[in-house]
Amino acid sequence: MSLTEALVRLPTVNPALEAGGGGEAPAASLCGDLLSTWGFGVETHEWAPGRTSLVARIGGEGPSLILNGHLDTVGVEGMTVSPFEPSIREGRLYGRGSCDMKGGVAALLCAARDMALQGRPRRGELLVVLTSDEEHASRGLEALLAEGLRADAAVVCEPTSLQVMPANKGFAWWRVEFRGRAAHGSRPDQGCDAIRLAGRFLAALDGVEDRLASAVTHPLLGSGSIHAGTIRGGTAPSVYPDRCELVLEARLLPGQRPEEMGEWLAALGEEVTRVDPRGEVTVIPTLRRPPGDLPGTHPLPRALQAAGQAMGRPMGLAGMSAWVEAAWFLEAGIPALCFGPGSIGKAHTADEFVPVEELRAAASILSRFTRSFLSNGV
Ligand SMILES: [Zn+2]
Repeated sequence: MSLTEALVRLPTVNPALEAGGGGEAPAASLCGDLLSTWGFGVETHEWAPGRTSLVARIGGEGPSLILNGHLDTVGVEGMTVSPFEPSIREGRLYGRGSCDMKGGVAALLCAARDMALQGRPRRGELLVVLTSDEEHASRGLEALLAEGLRADAAVVCEPTSLQVMPANKGFAWWRVEFRGRAAHGSRPDQGCDAIRLAGRFLAALDGVEDRLASAVTHPLLGSGSIHAGTIRGGTAPSVYPDRCELVLEARLLPGQRPEEMGEWLAALGEEVTRVDPRGEVTVIPTLRRPPGDLPGTHPLPRALQAAGQAMGRPMGLAGMSAWVEAAWFLEAGIPALCFGPGSIGKAHTADEFVPVEELRAAASILSRFTRSFLSNGV
């Protein structure tokens, strides 16, 4: 708990999300000092000034396990609790990052300390991997994987309310540009209203969402979805707008291809311009992240559940609705899942908190799981 408080006190807002954000360096330095004291070999990776990730290792031959967390947080605007001065009330620790995910980082560090204080593992290797930029473009983990970071399994300690989450949704973004014709508001014969084109397109998204929901479902993730994130357009009440721009986001399941979604959206654009052929609609894919789905038969979730059971804490399987770096570990061929204290529903919120009891339980379950994984694998 005191480690979570110490981490929350360090402002590590991702500077890509909020101007003046401090970056991860102070948290990487605190964690690196602790891990060195406990006997880990520590390497830091700085891909831009102040943007630091950390890889710490202990042990050697045998099964290798990554315990992973990210050190950055989202911004603090609009928060109703003090972001960097943690407070504890009614069993909850409040502050920016308490839940997403300095609580998880503290829990995995406790498990790492337990491991180290029992002497070097006789077998196996534990890697503590703390990443930067997860809340924006995951440049930290991207660089580490590109440099060859590998292990037999990874536990990503994102907030799961102590459920075991072997699957997560992916996402895809598109910019949709609507071009009309500017004209005086009194001249419908000359004007083509780009905002109205966007309106027709938006109304038709219900059909796209129905199609998404019926196309593929997943036992832990439900169905895919699509929504409009932002809209911009128009200059004045008495002017036909010649431009409007939507940014759409779809949350996609394993098996749903963003390329296919892009084709559906392009077809929708054609339908809209059929109503008014003077208009133009262009659908441009921007960012995408893959879903993650550890095969149901993989023993990793069961091994983690067994550790919970042994600590008197039965833990169910569930799906992670948010995108998480577990997906990138999986893409790199490393079996990965999410497990950690706090609820993803409290991540990024104005009164973010983590339940103290979950912090303690996560630390002891991770500690037990790590010991058993390093000696036996899964
Ligand atoms: Zn997170």
